[in-house]
Amino acid sequence: MKIAYVQKTSFIDYPGKISAIVFTQGCNFRCPYCHNPELVIPERYCGTIRVEDVFSFLDKRRGKLDAVVITGGEPTLQAKLIPFMQRIKAMGYALKLDSNGSRPQFLREALDKGLLDYIAMDIKAPWDKYSLVAGSLVNITHIKDSIDLVRKSGILHEFRTTLAGSLLEPDDVLSIGRMIEGASLYVLQKFVPSKHVDKDYTMKKTLPDEVIKRLVTDLHALVSRCITR
Ligand code: SF4
Repeated sequence: MKIAYVQKTSFIDYPGKISAIVFTQGCNFRCPYCHNPELVIPERYCGTIRVEDVFSFLDKRRGKLDAVVITGGEPTLQAKLIPFMQRIKAMGYALKLDSNGSRPQFLREALDKGLLDYIAMDIKAPWDKYSLVAGSLVNITHIKDSIDLVRKSGILHEFRTTLAGSLLEPDDVLSIGRMIEGASLYVLQKFVPSKHVDKDYTMKKTLPDEVIKRLVTDLHALVSRCITR
């Protein structure tokens, strides 16, 4: 496990629960708007922490935290993620996984083993723009399989898309809605300039508020609930 750091407390990353967030190092995508370049670009990595230190922290926080969120980077690339999750679950924590959906075989195993309580999957773009927006060659079949698994998982889940105005048009977002039709929750994340994988993205904007508002209304015809964040 390559763990870059742990955020000790979050009130927003696991809906309705107080969580700690584990950030894994490494990603197979290169979304230009990604705001965690230190977890994605090897030259910008800033070291790792010991797995045992993570468990010792989680042990001390029992009774104060409800849940652990594993995010990245792309956590499912970590070779020992299943035993890592098993240990967290054995400590009594609820577990949420954030994933880009590129490894459906991992999601299937984690779901079969009952390790997940919540899954959040990024949907980067309509199929014809997926690799462009993800900044790498994406296996679309894998993404489709993951969408199917998540939608039928029977656990709490959300799909989410970052609205980088230069990459996605409003019609693209509606196309994504059709790709995940029937989902229980779709989250439109406003792009906020900060530090990014592509340094030029500090100058980019999200879609205008009135466009996002109209999208939320239109998307309610395709998914049970659509919100912005
Ligand atoms: S936003 Fe893209 S590049 Fe960044 S961690 Fe997620 S999948 Fe990887």
